[in-house]
Amino acid sequence: MIPVNIPRLSGNEKKYLNECIETGWISSEGSFVSRFEAEFSSYIGQDYGIAVSNGSAALDVAIKALDLEKGSEVICPTFTIISPVQSIVNQGLVPVLIDSNLDTWNMEVNQIENKITSKTKAILVVHIYGLPVEMDAILQLAKTYNLKVIEDAAEMHGQTCNTQKCGAFGDISIFSFYPNKHITTGEGGMILTSDEALAERCKKLRNLCFEKERRFVHNEIGWNYRMTNMQAALGVAQLEQIDDIIERKRAIGKRYNDLLKNKINLQLPLAQTEYSQNIYWVYGLLARTEAECSRIQKELNQLKIGTRPFFWCMHEQPVFNKMGLFKSEHHPVAEKMARTGFYIPSGLGLANEEIEIVADSLIKIVSNG
Ligand SMILES: *Cc1c(COP(=O)(O)O)cnc(C)c1O
Repeated sequence: MIPVNIPRLSGNEKKYLNECIETGWISSEGSFVSRFEAEFSSYIGQDYGIAVSNGSAALDVAIKALDLEKGSEVICPTFTIISPVQSIVNQGLVPVLIDSNLDTWNMEVNQIENKITSKTKAILVVHIYGLPVEMDAILQLAKTYNLKVIEDAAEMHGQTCNTQKCGAFGDISIFSFYPNKHITTGEGGMILTSDEALAERCKKLRNLCFEKERRFVHNEIGWNYRMTNMQAALGVAQLEQIDDIIERKRAIGKRYNDLLKNKINLQLPLAQTEYSQNIYWVYGLLARTEAECSRIQKELNQLKIGTRPFFWCMHEQPVFNKMGLFKSEHHPVAEKMARTGFYIPSGLGLANEEIEIVADSLIKIVSNG
């Protein structure tokens, strides 16, 4: 079996984890947590890091911390994992969806300005699969219309947009450290910001909104979204290897591109844009039809090669439609991506021979169709 992802834990992970066990520091009070927060935030280029239990938790905290008035509109992509949109809805805010760009698979930046109203208070950017959203354009819009920028960089650890790292642009940004992300803590996430007051607010929200004056007296409701010292120990060890990790991810993507280019009639991921080189968080492809997409995945799975379908659009989610959201909306590019897109094994545990096997199998399956 060649699964879509195998994590790589080949540095100091065991050593640091043993330290947690030997010293008894296993809760969120251990010193790896603050060390991971400091090292990761400084690596990305923000002043403060707030480690939490996962990326979705980071979004809950980040969005609540901004204290936007209920009913405010937040612009975001329809093509995304549900986490950011669920956090928007849970805070009583209104998600306003944007279609995708067929080349980069990211939110179509040109469509944002038309959707801005007097109720718009933020743009939530999600960098998708390997290429970042063009942040210059987003920052310009945010400045013109006085909007907050929330950056979901859960798939972009170490990726750059022009000269800055993804996650460095947002008023508030988030990362996930799930095992398929570039660096992992098993489960885990982090919020980044350079606004001290916002950072303090996030720390409070992650820890049940305990007050400093009298413990167990609460003025507000938060969550227990704390990260353990054991998770942070993994994070510190993983961050030490991030340059190698990024290089390997790019090498996997490039190898697939070389093997598949001109050999199959599917759309391959774009290798670069003017502002970025693809980091290939996952190696995705677009089939020509929905039927071809299912056939290829089924036949790869029969050969014990793992695949995953692309995200499903937010405007077509039964849960949101039942809430009366996005009822008659259409976003044709994102709909096409959701129906024809899939990704193939591209995790850090993938061997070079496995890349060849996957590419060969894919070429055969596509040409037999
Ligand atoms: C993985 C991911 C998340 C969620 O992270 P979890 O740690 O799994 O909760 C959020 N946004 C994006 C874009 C992701 O890829």
